This record gives sequence, C-alpha cells and structure tokens, in this order.
Amino acid sequence: MAATKFSSNFQSSDNVAQMKASSTLAAMQAAEAMRTAGVDVVDLGAGEPDFDTPQNIKDAAAEAMRAGKTKYTPTAGTRELQRAIIEMYARDFGANYERNEVMATSGGKQAIFNAVVSLINPGDEVLIPKPYWVTFPEIVTFARGRSVFIETEDNGFVLTAEMVNRAITPRTKLIILNSPSNPSGRVIPPSELRKIMEITAEHDLYAVSDECYLRFVYPPAEVFSAASFRSELRKRLCIAGSFSKTYAMTGWRVGYSLANADWTRAMLKVQGHSTSNATSISQAAAIEALNGPQDSVATMLAEYTRRREWLLNALNEISGLRCPQPEGAFYAFPDVRDCLKKGETSDDFVNQLLEKEQTVVTDGAAFGAEGFIRISYATSLDRLQEGVKRIRRVAERII
Ligand code: GLU
Repeated sequence: MAATKFSSNFQSSDNVAQMKASSTLAAMQAAEAMRTAGVDVVDLGAGEPDFDTPQNIKDAAAEAMRAGKTKYTPTAGTRELQRAIIEMYARDFGANYERNEVMATSGGKQAIFNAVVSLINPGDEVLIPKPYWVTFPEIVTFARGRSVFIETEDNGFVLTAEMVNRAITPRTKLIILNSPSNPSGRVIPPSELRKIMEITAEHDLYAVSDECYLRFVYPPAEVFSAASFRSELRKRLCIAGSFSKTYAMTGWRVGYSLANADWTRAMLKVQGHSTSNATSISQAAAIEALNGPQDSVATMLAEYTRRREWLLNALNEISGLRCPQPEGAFYAFPDVRDCLKKGETSDDFVNQLLEKEQTVVTDGAAFGAEGFIRISYATSLDRLQEGVKRIRRVAERII
C-alpha cells in the first residue's frame, strides 16, 4: 500500500516483531472500551484487585509528596525501601539478603524483564511451565532466547521436579516459576519446589520465581517463598515480587527483585537505562505497605475466599464445564472443551461471551492452554453472579 501522509512505513525491530501484544492487557482494554461506550459489561478479565489501595498507604504517598520526595532515587530504590524488603524476608521467611541483592522496580513485571534480559543470550533455552503468565515467553523472545514449554496438564497443572528434569538440555539456562500460578491458581507444594530448586542447582541453572500472588493462598496451602530455601539453593534464584496484588496497588507500578549481587548489578544496568528507578512516591507508599498494618491483606483474602467458594460451585454446575479449586491467586481456570462445538476453540468461546453476553474473560490459549478460559474473581460477588449467568448461557447454548 502506498505511504499516506499518516503512514511512516514503520517496521518494528525483529525482536519486537516476534513478540505478541499482552492479551491480559488487551482483555482489560476491551472491557474499558465497552464501559466507555455505555455497555453493561461484566469484566472478569482484569487480573487486578477491585479493592482500593489502603488509606495508610495513600497517606504515606501524600506525605512523601509534601516532604518533597519527588526526585530521582537511586536506581535500586531508596535505602528505606530496600531495608523494608530485606526485613520482611528476614521476618517472614528467615532469609538473609544484603542491600546489594535487592532492588525496587516499576512493578513485578519489570523485575522479570530485568532478570531475563540481563541473563539470556541468543539461543539460550528458558523452561516455562504451562500454563504460563502471558508475559514470560514474550520477554524471552525479546531477549532472543528460546522458550521451552513444560506440559503440566496431566498433573492438574502442577509442576513437578520430574517434569523439569526431563526438559533440561545442555542449552537450558533458566526456569521461570510462578506459584501461586496466574492463570491456574495452582500452588507447587514447598517439598516439590525444593526438589525443583535442587535440580536447577545440580544443573547450574538460574531460576526466576514470580511471587506476585505470594500472600493470596487458601488453606491448606500456605504462604511460601522460594526465599525460604537454604542459601546454596538460592545462589542462582531471582525472586520477583510486587505490591500490585498484595496491597491493591496496580497503578502505582512498584515491585522488587532479590537476587545475588552480580545478577542484581546486571539488572541495575538494564534499569538504569530504561526506567531509572521506580517512582519515588510509590516507593514511599511501598515502605508503608510493608511496615504498616497488614489487616487490609487479610480482609482482601477473606473476600477472595468467599468469592472462590461461591464461584467454584457455580461454575461446576454448568454442564460441560470443569473447574478445579484454585489454591491461590484470584483466578478460576475452567476447562471448556466439552462446551465447544466441533472445530471451535476457546477463543471462539471467549468471543461469543464478549459479543453475545458482553462479558470479558481471557482465552486460555494466551497462557498456553487452549480449551481453557481464565476468570478473574477480583471483582464483586454481584458481578461474578451476573457473569456466571452469562457464561452458563454461552456454555449451554441458551442463546
Ligand atoms: N497480571 C495481571 C493479569 O494477568 C495484570 C495484567 C498484566 O500485567 O498482564 O491479568
């Protein structure tokens, strides 16, 4: 097509051309566009708490602004935030991290980005268990690594050390772990996680543990961080953490990484030439989040628990749809294959929901699990109830 006044004939770099846009963000934006157009949309797409950021955290940010904390901070974050993160890991997980092993990032996503691009060379293999958070393989692509996916469906989407062992080749450099998992809500039992870490240590592999749902687990599952392992197992581990989910702070864009000093130094270079530092005001808020009262976390967890109970029963009453109990995070990940007509995919299911029922969920295929859909229950029980009615109509074809 001939270039018009408005066309720049732009062609993105090969690295970026191979990346897919984020489907989780696309689902959120589709819902937002419908809301703006006045549609009565039920948004079960957003992986975002529907709670407001706790007031004490907002107050800390306001106070930081008043006190003029509106300037650059060190790339690794303020000393106070580094200290608060180190103290939290010492207190809750018995882990001893030094200041040169911790850095604040612009969200957990940037911690993962920093970790991968500072480690991976072209052709290095990165193990990614399925289903995976959409962003993992795309960052690997950007770094010109090769994602090697591990199938886990036979074990109800829970990764085992045996599966990891089978996937390792001489080119394997890194494994990306995420427990509780987005999208499946499954939790790797700590004893199995230890075996996985032992295997990665035996093969001199690196590991990134995305722990952004750390605090949202449902008994009998327990809050557990890979930081709890003895230091030989943590030598090549990078923990990526986030304030977004735990403290309902998605828009503040603040997270952190914990990794050995060399890896952290490399990540600081990446961050020093990209975002410089996490927002100074968000860092002040994050300190209050860690050091202030934690009752808002318990309140959110209690509400997610209540919704989970209701949602799981309701979903499993829909004929053809099967959904195991999520053990953590705030997603249900039902199998909809028995609701599909011959030749249909879960993407068709998602589109029917959107077009006929104005309901947004995320296609499992985006997470490497065709035939599944992700339903976020970080939304009020009322809206969930309305959403499930609509899902039933599409699943049972009452439309
Ligand atoms: N992590 C959330 C989700 O999976 C937020 C969107 C994103 O950053 O991908 O929906």
